[in-house]
Parts: sequence; structure tokens; C-alpha cells
Amino acid sequence: MNWIKLALEAGFEDAVLLNMDALEPRQEVRDMCSADRCRAFGTRWACPPACGSIEHCEKRMKAYTDGILVQTVGELEDDFDSEGIARANAEHKRRFAALARQARMIAGDCLPLSAGTCTRCEVCTYPDRPCRFPDKMLSSMEAYGLLVSEVCTRSGMPYNRGEKTITFTSCLLFNKKETDK
Ligand code: SF4
Repeated sequence: MNWIKLALEAGFEDAVLLNMDALEPRQEVRDMCSADRCRAFGTRWACPPACGSIEHCEKRMKAYTDGILVQTVGELEDDFDSEGIARANAEHKRRFAALARQARMIAGDCLPLSAGTCTRCEVCTYPDRPCRFPDKMLSSMEAYGLLVSEVCTRSGMPYNRGEKTITFTSCLLFNKKETDK
């Protein structure tokens, strides 16, 4: 299975093989979640604390042999172009949900980690009822404790594409042997 080709066909501006050694969850990233900087902490099954401890997340990631990193790069009019940022974010979410859907069909067992919290449902069922779509839920790389800039750098992918651009990054983990059958 050529995952890079699949990602580029899904519309991502860039896709590279993930350096699996770079998947080192960091407590300081989880601390940023609990400081509630994105206002999703404790509101979604996909986010901490519901997505599990940092040890649990690390164990889940280590269950996969390979992965890819994918990026959407949006052009901005200037640094304050909030509409441009929102447009690129929405496009990245759309592309990544489509890629995750395909990957789950092809690989069965895989782990897509998105940019930003799960937005599958307008209002998450957390904490009163179970997740409506456990097979479609998307946790973020940050929720798994990953410092995205570091994962990019260690995988040979730019994290930032320079002035007047905004970049969103996600990753997809899988077992190569299973998907190459
Ligand atoms: S799929 Fe829906 S219920 Fe499940 S984590 Fe995402 S938003 Fe919440």
C-alpha cells in the first residue's frame, strides 16, 4: 500500500513517512491540554482525560510499526487572516476525516491522530453517554502528548511554511505488514 500516494490523492499539500522514534509523548504537552488552551479539555471522548493517560497513549502508538505525516498548507492574506486560517483548518479536517475513513477500511486496525479535537458531532456525548462513533472518533496528536513541531522536524518535514501561510499537521499510524498483504 502506497500511503504517501493515497494522502496526496486526498489533497494534502505534503505527506512523508513518519519517524516512529519521534513518537515520544511529553507531559508538558498534556499539561497544555489540562491548562485548557484550546477549550476542549474534559469536553470530548477524544481529548484528555477521556482519551487515556500518557502511558496508555504511548502504548497505543507503539502498537504500530509505521506511519505517515500529512499537511494542509493554506495561503493567508496576512497574519491576521482568520478566515483564511479557518478555511485551511476546515479543509484539513475534511481531508483527514476522508483519509482516516479510507485507512480504517484498508488497514482495519490503524490510529489516525488529527489536528484539533474531534468535531464529528456538534455536541459530544462526553461524559454522560458513550461516544456515538467510536470507529470514527479522532483524537489529536497533542491529546496523545506529541509535540507536533518536534515530530515534523524529526521526520524531515517542515512544521512552518513561512510568511502568509498556515500549516495543519496530522498523522496516521498502521502496521505495514498488515497493509502490504
Ligand atoms: S465521535 Fe462524537 S461522541 Fe465521539 S468523541 Fe467525537 S464528538 Fe464525541
